[in-house]
Amino acid sequence: MRLSELKTGDSAVILKVLGHGGFRRRIMEMGFVRGQNVDVVLNAPLQDPIQYKIMGYDISLRSREAQMVVVITQQEAESLMRDETFQTADDSLDISSIIKSRSKRINVALVGNPNSGKTSLFNALSGSREHVGNYSGVTVGAKCGKLTYKGYQFEITDLPGTYALSAYTPEELFVRDHLKDNTPDVVVNIAVASNLERNLYLTTELIDINPRMVVALNMYDELEASGSQLDHDTLGAMLGVPMVPIVAKSNKGFEVLLDTVISVFENQQETVRHIHIYQGAIAEESIKLLSNELKSVGDEIPKYFPPRYFAMKLLEGDKNIEKSLKYLTIYDKLIALRDREVRAIKMALNEDIETAFANHKYGFISGALKETFTLGKDRQTATTTLIDAIVTHKLWGFPIFFFLMWLMFYSTFTLGAYPQGWIESLVEGVSHLAREILPDGTLKDLIIDGVIAGVGGVIVFLPNIVILYFFISFFENSGYLSRATFIMDRVMHRIGLHGKSFIPLVMGFGCNVPAIMATRTIESFSSRLITILIVPFMSCSARLPIYILFAGTFFPRYGGSVLFVMYISGILCAVLTARIMRRFMFKKDETPFVMELPPYRLPTLKTTLMHMWEKCALYLKKMGGMILIASIAIWFLSAYPKSDGEILSSSAEYENSYLGKIGKFCSPVFEPLGFNWKTNIAIITGISAKEIVVSTLGILYAENSEEVNNMDDKTLGQKLIQSNDFPIATVCSFLIFILIFFPCIATIVAIGAEAGWQWALASVVYNSLLAWIVAYLVYNIVNLFLSL
Ligand code: GDP
Ligand code: MG
Repeated sequence: MRLSELKTGDSAVILKVLGHGGFRRRIMEMGFVRGQNVDVVLNAPLQDPIQYKIMGYDISLRSREAQMVVVITQQEAESLMRDETFQTADDSLDISSIIKSRSKRINVALVGNPNSGKTSLFNALSGSREHVGNYSGVTVGAKCGKLTYKGYQFEITDLPGTYALSAYTPEELFVRDHLKDNTPDVVVNIAVASNLERNLYLTTELIDINPRMVVALNMYDELEASGSQLDHDTLGAMLGVPMVPIVAKSNKGFEVLLDTVISVFENQQETVRHIHIYQGAIAEESIKLLSNELKSVGDEIPKYFPPRYFAMKLLEGDKNIEKSLKYLTIYDKLIALRDREVRAIKMALNEDIETAFANHKYGFISGALKETFTLGKDRQTATTTLIDAIVTHKLWGFPIFFFLMWLMFYSTFTLGAYPQGWIESLVEGVSHLAREILPDGTLKDLIIDGVIAGVGGVIVFLPNIVILYFFISFFENSGYLSRATFIMDRVMHRIGLHGKSFIPLVMGFGCNVPAIMATRTIESFSSRLITILIVPFMSCSARLPIYILFAGTFFPRYGGSVLFVMYISGILCAVLTARIMRRFMFKKDETPFVMELPPYRLPTLKTTLMHMWEKCALYLKKMGGMILIASIAIWFLSAYPKSDGEILSSSAEYENSYLGKIGKFCSPVFEPLGFNWKTNIAIITGISAKEIVVSTLGILYAENSEEVNNMDDKTLGQKLIQSNDFPIATVCSFLIFILIFFPCIATIVAIGAEAGWQWALASVVYNSLLAWIVAYLVYNIVNLFLSL
């Protein structure tokens, strides 16, 4: 708990002091150090300051200051002790050891440029499996993980990538707010060792706010491979921040890094020193005036950032910082002073203040690097330039891109067919076995016709999904996807978006839900909204089983191409929709933005496999949850009500079931598209998750076994052919309908959460209408051709 929360008469032991370096030092000099006992002499509500007794002295602190001191009370310690004794069965635990273990918790925040390897480091340290990708904006929120090392408990937070700590992008603001509100004990700033010039800019921004900090020089392997040399100890000494080389990808340097974090946490690092990056005589004068003004109010100013930082941000005109100072009594005076100084600086320097500050920081960095860094001949860059020249080429770029996309779908289909066959026989085997060993009755029907037919029908597509994800992760992790962004930028401009929308769209091929969340990196509202609304046209992997089932059954020789056509049609719908929205709803916006081109990296087998496994696990979880439940429900609705007495053929029995009634009820809507009532049901049940379309068909076409005796040995595809329910025109319109119809409840919820519920509703209506219209056209056009 915080010191400010204690009441008069309470006493507690100090665990740590938060806040910027200068503040911490001052408070610690007053005696508020770890392990000290502190008594509250007087803490009256609404009364500031609060009176404390520490080391026999009476000291008063502002509540704002007391808020930054973390303490543990006797009661807290006792209840913890009970828990811990319970867990460890160790009676010898006493309060002081509890306090000791409590004060060995280190809250670490990972801060770095996009693509600097934060998530790789985070995963390696915490053993989690967050998404690692070779492009910007992968990590959108903060992720937390834990690690125990040398008796210390690390609580690690992976933050979104940023280039600076101003308030321009949501990521920057997010990171700054995290540093302010969560006051991490140690900030680990991850900088790409082979690109220090730019990465150290963020370091200088962090230095301004003076946290306890360690710089992890990541990708040191690349620096060494390029033949460059860095004297990181000297560089660290110059910046006043310890620097540790690491290779996050192959777990190198972690021990030194963690040891350094501990020593910084324990205030035992000699390197640590708070430096001020000099901003030139004129600006420095203004900074000094403003920070003195701030300091004049004494204890009232916020403690999370130093006064100098507030002064600089005020000069830069940072609105968020202004807002956070509004409560100060001197606020108006401060702003007036600021305005006067800004005018003076602008006059004198003839450039705006942010540029002036940034220039000084870059100057500082190149100065520091000049003394510590020698450039080798950069091999990495050479290969990168070479590959870039080819894949982002004006003419060849597109054919290469389309070839790779085609290759992805082709492999998904053809390579996937082999394991698919094995799983199919396995499912059949299980079904056979169940038929033989289970006693006749409802349970047997439920298991065979419900669970096995439903879940089994979908699980056979797992290999295809694995292969699709293999390609997507390879493209992402190698850096190719960023290049694709680059060449697609021109195309995206045509539809009123820019390259940045491209990555969420490609992610949509995997699953629409994370894709919609990934649009958070798009700054402009209209671009973001349009991207969100066209993501559902990106055919997600849940729709893949349906395509594979139908393409494999009805177009066995052209399966891969049919898949390709499906995906392309989805993209066309997206383009069309985007153009319409730009034309009629939002004016074009031209927010310029930087497209990163990270160097190519051969993805490690481990990351790629991990990535794949993650997706498979999700898929399997869906099998065991949603799809299992839906299968049972569908089976129930299809088996009841039982016709009393008279023996009906099973299909007649189906027609009389609840499900049959629902399907028939919808017939007027779907008949013009060539669908029968079983298909209608599949479409409706598919709203919960698209795979369920396949399991529904599996169940509805399973029971024909009583009519044709050896039907059971047939695959679902063969049963579909035999049923004669699917002439080619119906197959085509059905596939197109599935593609365009809104994907699933989860996607709609994601749209609602990200863009607002009115847009979620609009998306449902629009996609359903469009799906119907296009499917209707396809059905009639195919029929027309067939009749020629
Ligand atoms: P984040 O955006 O900062 O979270 O960065 P990621 O962890 O997603 O990593 C970006 C890319 O850099 C991925 O392709 C990683 O495989 C790669 N990477 C991470 N650490 C290293 C490293 O130490 N050496 C090399 N060569 N590549 C790395
Ligand atoms: Mg990340």
